[in-house]
Amino acid sequence: MRKAIGVDLGGSHASAAVVQEDGKIVSQYEQDIVDRSFDAVIAALENVIRPAIRDGKENELAGIGVGSPGNIDLTTGTVIYSPNFLWQNIPLGPRLRQLFQLPVHVANDARCATLGEYTFGMGKGTKDFVLLTLGTGIGGGIVAGGSLVIGNRAGAGEIGHHQIRPTDGFICGCGKIGCFEAQASGTGLLRHAFAVAPSFPKSTLLVKSPDKLGSKAIRRAAQAGDAHALAAWKNFIGDLAIGLANIVTFVNPEMIALGGGVSSAGDFMIGAVLPGMDELTTMVPRGTTRLVIANLGNDAGLVGAATMALRGGITPASWQNSP
Ligand SMILES: [Zn+2]
Repeated sequence: MRKAIGVDLGGSHASAAVVQEDGKIVSQYEQDIVDRSFDAVIAALENVIRPAIRDGKENELAGIGVGSPGNIDLTTGTVIYSPNFLWQNIPLGPRLRQLFQLPVHVANDARCATLGEYTFGMGKGTKDFVLLTLGTGIGGGIVAGGSLVIGNRAGAGEIGHHQIRPTDGFICGCGKIGCFEAQASGTGLLRHAFAVAPSFPKSTLLVKSPDKLGSKAIRRAAQAGDAHALAAWKNFIGDLAIGLANIVTFVNPEMIALGGGVSSAGDFMIGAVLPGMDELTTMVPRGTTRLVIANLGNDAGLVGAATMALRGGITPASWQNSP
C-alpha cells in the first residue's frame, strides 16, 4: 500500500508518522520543541522524520506532508508568517526537500487537520464540512462542495479570528478584541472563569490547583454542578453559539465537527450549545447543520498532512472525495 510521512509541527511539539493511503498510522515519532529558531526546529523535525522514513521504506513513500502553524505559500512551502514561531518568510519546504530528497508539501496545520477529519474521520461522506479545534486557540478549516476552501493567499478558514465581541470581549493573541478564539477556545473558557470569579467570592475553583488549572478542570466542575464553573460554562457556550451560527450563515455546512481538549465534554457540550446556535441561525434553514464531536483527535493533523503528500498537494482538485 502507498504511504507518506505526515508531520504535525506545533509551537512546542513535533511529530511525524508513516501513514498509509487508507489513513492508518503505521508508526509515529515525537519530540518536544524548546528552541523555536528555524535551525533548532529543523533539527527537531529531522529527529522525527528520519526514523519514520526508515520505517516507511523510501521507495514506497510518496513524500512528506507538513502541517505548520501560520500562513504558508502552498507552491513553495515557505512559511510567510507564523506568530507561534515568530517566523517571516522561512523556507521550511525548501529546506526539508534538500534534507530528505523527497517531494515535500507544506500547508497550515489546521487545514491539514480539517482534511484528515474530512477524509477519514467524521466528515467522511459529506461534501460541506467544517472542523473547529477548540484548544489553546481555535483552528479551523472549511470544505465546500467537496473541496477545501483555500482562498486567495491560503488564508481561508481562519475562523478563530472573526470577532464576536469587539467591544466587551477578551484580548486575542492576534491583537483584536473578542475574536471567536479568545472567547470560545479552551483558553476562552478559562478566561470566562476568571471574569465571573468576583460573583463567587467563596469559590475555590480557581485556587484549588492553580498549577494544573486548565479548561478541562472548569468543564469537569461545570458537569459536577459547581456554580462558579457553571456560570463560566454558560458564558462560554453563549459565545461558542454565536460563532457556530456565523459559520452556518456563511457556509451552511452539512456538518461541523468540534475537536480539541474542550470537546471531550461530548454531549454535555453539544446539548448545551445547539439551542443557542439554532436560535441565532436566521436566514439559513435551521437544523440543516449537524454538530458532532471530531473522532480522529490529535491524529487528524498527521493523517491529513500525509494524505496531502499522497495526493500531490492540497489543491481543491486533489482533495475531492470520490462520489
Ligand atoms: Zn484574533
